[in-house]
Amino acid sequence: MKQKKIPLRKCTGCNEMKPKKELIRIVKLPDAVDENGEITAKGNIELDFTGKKPGRGAYICNCEE
Ligand SMILES: [Zn+2]
Repeated sequence: MKQKKIPLRKCTGCNEMKPKKELIRIVKLPDAVDENGEITAKGNIELDFTGKKPGRGAYICNCEE
């Protein structure tokens, strides 16, 4: 018997593996840096409901902020 594979992603909130559809994708936008390479503004973290935003993606489960 072959088992159907469900894609799992790790929730960055609770560190548990969960099915992708139960998770919300969050995207960390890059930090702004000046010419010396010092961070002048932290990149925002945005929720990505479309799954198409560029940037560092991570997944978090629905129950957490
Ligand atoms: Zn979680």
